Amino acid sequence: MRPMNSIDDIPLAKRINYPKKISRNSFFALIVLILGLGVSFIIFIANRISNKDLFSNNSKIFSESIQTDTLLGHFPYSDVSREDLVLFSPGIFVHKDIFDKFTEMQSKASKSGISLQLLSGFRSINLQRDIFYENKSIRNQTAIERARVSAPPGYSEHSTGYAIDVGDGSYPNTHFELEFEQTPAFKWMKKYAPKYHFVLSFPKNNKQGISYEPWHWRFEGTVEALRKFEPANKTLGLK
Ligand SMILES: [Zn+2]
Repeated sequence: MRPMNSIDDIPLAKRINYPKKISRNSFFALIVLILGLGVSFIIFIANRISNKDLFSNNSKIFSESIQTDTLLGHFPYSDVSREDLVLFSPGIFVHKDIFDKFTEMQSKASKSGISLQLLSGFRSINLQRDIFYENKSIRNQTAIERARVSAPPGYSEHSTGYAIDVGDGSYPNTHFELEFEQTPAFKWMKKYAPKYHFVLSFPKNNKQGISYEPWHWRFEGTVEALRKFEPANKTLGLK
């Protein structure tokens, strides 16, 4: 027979000598705190890693924008070779790849009673130089002010032969004016131009910081044209 006071008769839970009941709660609180700190640390490290990725992506974008060598928001474009140019109408040359597409678009629009007019096409770097600096001087503008509405020489899409300025023959007073966007020609272009591979180069609030030009469109219907406008499209793609 075992003695009455044998320790084995005391239930196990009571045999463990916790100093106080509160201590057991503190122990669990400590565990929760450690777990909490561990989770916070993991989240912190994960954020650091993803921020690092974001930062290196930004650095890449930044270095690419340096490489494209923009000037006051405009991308560099060299003159198209003369043999790639064709006369569209008196005084207006365009890239030969545009000719058929624009003519097709023009005749399609005329079937809807719209007079789509080609106002300008190819402009040489030399001509762009005269236009840029003469207008800058006449209007007493700084280069930054002028560049919002006109490209500096060597930076105009018109040099490629792929860029055109379009007007509505029924509303000649809107030529090269913002009011052009109210004309049937613009509304028709906005709807159907992609069918003929023309896109608006400087839409409202464009990333290049160039003023909205509803009349200025560029052709992207060949790989050669697309390659010319790749830097500009990349910038727009970052919207
Ligand atoms: Zn233009």
